[in-house]
Amino acid sequence: MNLLSVTNLHVNFHTKAQELAALIDVSFTLNRGERIAIVGESGAGKSVLGFSIVNLIGKPGYIHSGSIRLENDELTKMNLRQLQEVRGKRIAMIFQDPMMTLNPVITIGAQLVETIRSHTKISYKDARNIAIEKLNHVQIASPERRFDQYPHELSGGMRQRVIIAAVLLLNPDIIIADEPTTALDVTIQAEILQLLLAICRDNGVALVLISHDLGVVSKVAERTLVMYAGRIVEEGPTLEIINDPQHPYTQGLLNALPQMTLPGQRLNQIQGSMPSLIERPSGCAFHPRCPYAKEKCKKEQPSFIHSGVSSVACFLVEDMINEFANQDQEVSK
Ligand code: SF4
Repeated sequence: MNLLSVTNLHVNFHTKAQELAALIDVSFTLNRGERIAIVGESGAGKSVLGFSIVNLIGKPGYIHSGSIRLENDELTKMNLRQLQEVRGKRIAMIFQDPMMTLNPVITIGAQLVETIRSHTKISYKDARNIAIEKLNHVQIASPERRFDQYPHELSGGMRQRVIIAAVLLLNPDIIIADEPTTALDVTIQAEILQLLLAICRDNGVALVLISHDLGVVSKVAERTLVMYAGRIVEEGPTLEIINDPQHPYTQGLLNALPQMTLPGQRLNQIQGSMPSLIERPSGCAFHPRCPYAKEKCKKEQPSFIHSGVSSVACFLVEDMINEFANQDQEVSK
């Protein structure tokens, strides 16, 4: 059984003027201990998807239809108390800005102890020992000293380590990490990613890494989902997505990586920008930016088809697959 199954998920934003679709027909699965990434530019719907999994989308957003199952439990049907049990204990979230989670006026140690004691009936002394052990585990030097410090006394990288320590305290099945390294220096980014990877591997924790950067996900995720304008447009093993991207949007994301540009050359960019919810183009939403768009792309939404080990929603790929199939038939006649 899959650990997490998201099926035909639709998330809308209800405004006075109209109903806006933020996620359209999103489906994917996650196995125990698996690491997947959700990539796309800002506004693609990645974070909405991350928040939807734990039913944390703020108003006016809401889950319109679809299913989110954590093994046998349907999360979309849970009440607040049940959801609070799931959040943290079974699914933990790490955000780009650790200060979204840390209370600035309470010491690091007090926050960790509070987390432990809200879930387990143990003495303050034992909780303190566990908290210090976890700070040590996430490679925070002098954990006893850090225990008594406030969040503002720590660097951004160290604060993110504290968050990872807090997540570890609850031993979750899944960590959803939303751009966990975007606000950090490049060298610190690599350290935090390595730490996250090691924590997930060593503890059998599944990871959903949300990122705009295919370079980052290639280091961590086994499988990658590419999102555009609220839909998944390509899904496959990360190596395959990096080495042989099928969807023109995925190709554009890869070409835009700084590593793909020679010194002195201008950075490659995908023409245009991600459409807002109120101006989603008809047909394939990528068509105004796609160098291969044809008339059909402006009118119809491509379905998901298998292409090798990946799945992709694109008429160009569909046509190529059909052409190869026809050629094969001709040869075998
Ligand atoms: Fe481009 Fe058409 Fe494929 Fe969309 S369906 S990505 S517009 S070729």
